[in-house]
This record gives sequence, C-alpha cells and structure tokens, in this order.
Amino acid sequence: MFEKLKPDLYYQNIFAIDFGELARKGVRGLICDIDNTIIPWSEDKILKEVTDWFAEIKKKGFSICLVSNGKDKRVKKISRELAIPALGLALKPSRKAVKKAQEILKLKKEEIAVIGDQLFTDILGGNRMGFKTILVDPMSSKEFFTTMLVRRIEGFIYKRRGNSE
Ligand SMILES: [Mg+2]
Repeated sequence: MFEKLKPDLYYQNIFAIDFGELARKGVRGLICDIDNTIIPWSEDKILKEVTDWFAEIKKKGFSICLVSNGKDKRVKKISRELAIPALGLALKPSRKAVKKAQEILKLKKEEIAVIGDQLFTDILGGNRMGFKTILVDPMSSKEFFTTMLVRRIEGFIYKRRGNSE
C-alpha cells in the first residue's frame, strides 16, 4: 500500500519537469491533474505561462489528457481554453477515469506519466495503473503569483540584456 504512494519523480512545480528525461524513459503521454497542479483551486484564470508550458509540451510530441476530481463545468471550461481533452469528476484514485484517459491517449501504460500534487489521489491512482508518477508541490495562489512574478522579471532582465549586446 505505502509503496503505491511513492512517486517515481518529484519536482517543485510543473515548470521544473524535465521532458527530455521523460522522453528518454519512453514517456509519450501525460495525464495531468488540474487543481493546485496547473492552477490554484481558488483561481479561474489560466496564466499565460501555463498555456505556453502546454504548447511547449505538445510541440515536443507529448499527448496530454487532464483528469480532475473537480466539478465538470470548471474542468470543461479549462479543457476548452487549453484545447486539451479533460475528464472531470474523476474520483481519483479510482481506476475508471484514468483508464478512460489512457484510452484517449491511445498509449501503453509504460508510455504514460501522471502529474499531480496529491499522493492519495494522483500518485496512488497512477501507480495502481502502472503509469509513471510525478509529484509536484501544491500550487497556492500566493506562491504561484510570486513565482510568476519572478519569472517575468527574469524574462524582462534577460531580454534587456539581450538587447543591449
Ligand atoms: Mg490537485
């Protein structure tokens, strides 16, 4: 039981995930949690950084399906905005929704990684299915916006430096 709560990989947040390494391990598809993984649960707006992150992953050739225990209406809205298939009311760690996500991805279990912030839903659910599992820290609104602000300032400084050379 406890073995099944252990993620294969841990990163501080989604932006730190090394997709080159995942590709080398044979991962081609991602089942990604929504609340506190890609968006704080109290927020409605998907930040540009997150949209860009998904675009980058798609460009790298990964297929993605969002799976959330959250309400269907919110999940559908996020799915539409990101243009990524999503399943709501998933009752993770139940196998049913993640199995459906695997059907959507049309991939073998060895080719799928689950990304999420909760051991008892995301990681347990993924491990039970034989997928690779990636734990990230839950994204709080405050942390999220501080991180984004720092990234934006870094980007701004980087750009300025580039222009001055
Ligand atoms: Mg979550």
